[in-house]
Amino acid sequence: MRAAACIIDIDGTVVTSTGPIPGAAGAIAALERAGIRYVFATNTTRHPRTVLAARLASAGIDVEPERIWTAPVAAARWLQARGVTRVSLLLPSASFEEFSGFEVDDERPEAVVVGDLGREWTFDRLNAAFLALRAGAVLVAIQKNRCWNDGTGLKLDAGPFVAALEYATGRTAELIGKPAAAFFETAISFLQAPRERIVVVGDSVENDVKGGHDAGCQAVAVRTGSFREDDLAALARPPEAILATIAALPDWLGI
Ligand SMILES: [Mg+2]
Repeated sequence: MRAAACIIDIDGTVVTSTGPIPGAAGAIAALERAGIRYVFATNTTRHPRTVLAARLASAGIDVEPERIWTAPVAAARWLQARGVTRVSLLLPSASFEEFSGFEVDDERPEAVVVGDLGREWTFDRLNAAFLALRAGAVLVAIQKNRCWNDGTGLKLDAGPFVAALEYATGRTAELIGKPAAAFFETAISFLQAPRERIVVVGDSVENDVKGGHDAGCQAVAVRTGSFREDDLAALARPPEAILATIAALPDWLGI
């Protein structure tokens, strides 16, 4: 067997906004049968873990919310550890439940937390964040993805907006989600497997392949979701495999 555990991306890897990736549920069931431990890891801020678990269940994948690592959950832990109490959340309201322990204060926040606000971005919201950062708040980026595929085509993700705030303030955001090593470390410690025997599986060459390799894991790319062949050229180390879809994972793992 090539691996003892897997860290599996959700969007574009097991499901898309238009439905499950064919064969994904079968691949996860094969991991279960083979005794390969796994967690799901996602940068999404559009849904809390409870909703993600329900979405996976509707795709035929039963997983408890505790086995779903999300960037908002990691961000909340990061802020808590630094004693931050007042936050401005530039995130879809669906993920606010992961920040229930904080006071939301858009005028004098200690941290501005930026995620994929999508169509809710406005000049006024971006400018308010800029002013809060100028007044000393720390800039926390849930993720810095360039784009994502919503089923109708590529859309701007949180990254371009994080970059705008960085450019305007001359500061660098604290990146919490994939590909940040800190994000993978929590998943690795949960899996209790040697990192070189953990495979990160995902459609993003930057977040899943490079992020996984930077964390010391193996990495497998899938040609679904936002996968782009051109992105591979930027890698110093190619993925251990490039699969048509996650349905081919059990074969590759030799299970
Ligand atoms: Mg993905």
